[in-house]
Amino acid sequence: MIDRARLFVISGPSGSGKSSLISDVIKSMDNFEKSISATTRPKRSGEIHGRNYYFVSPEEFREMIDRGSFLEWAVYAGYYYGTPENFVMEKLSIGINMILEIEVQGAMQIMKKIDDAYFIFITTTIPGQLRERLIKRGTDSIEEIEKRLEIAEKEQKYKKYYDCIIVNNNYNEALKNLKSVLIEADGKVSK
Ligand code: 5GP
Repeated sequence: MIDRARLFVISGPSGSGKSSLISDVIKSMDNFEKSISATTRPKRSGEIHGRNYYFVSPEEFREMIDRGSFLEWAVYAGYYYGTPENFVMEKLSIGINMILEIEVQGAMQIMKKIDDAYFIFITTTIPGQLRERLIKRGTDSIEEIEKRLEIAEKEQKYKKYYDCIIVNNNYNEALKNLKSVLIEADGKVSK
């Protein structure tokens, strides 16, 4: 018999380090995979279609919405982002825990749809750290960074809806905490 898998939703402001934390935690755990979203955002250098995202045109994205392809979708900083439903549901049905790295509006949609999903919010409490990390990352223009920081402030208001908050002021500590939370929450799903 296959154990019932769980859906994990991880959100957090741009620059909170959530992508790195998720990719590192998955490497050290069996049975957890990250879902690959579709987006209309332009590809950054180093990103690969089908690995980081499915990069699609706004027309293709809207067709996917019309076909009901998304478990959730939202607009973030002027671009569409969405989770393909079939992929996630198929993985869950064969016993693989799935992680969605999505922003808060999408997370709220999942909260209404999926009863036993587990919600984690990753953030930093050091003033100015998000800005510093985004500048250091070097993937976004200053204009884009300002937009993301503005969204980050609004996103903080949603953290009260999450099951757990992980503070990433220190990377290794946050990684350890994230791993413990995933193990603990996986064990609690009714199988
Ligand atoms: P980025 O452009 O930095 O890759 O992502 C911007 C924001 O969109 C991040 O908060 C990321 O978690 C979120 N995001 C990525 N994929 C999805 C998705 O499928 N749905 C939603 N709602 N947000 C997403």
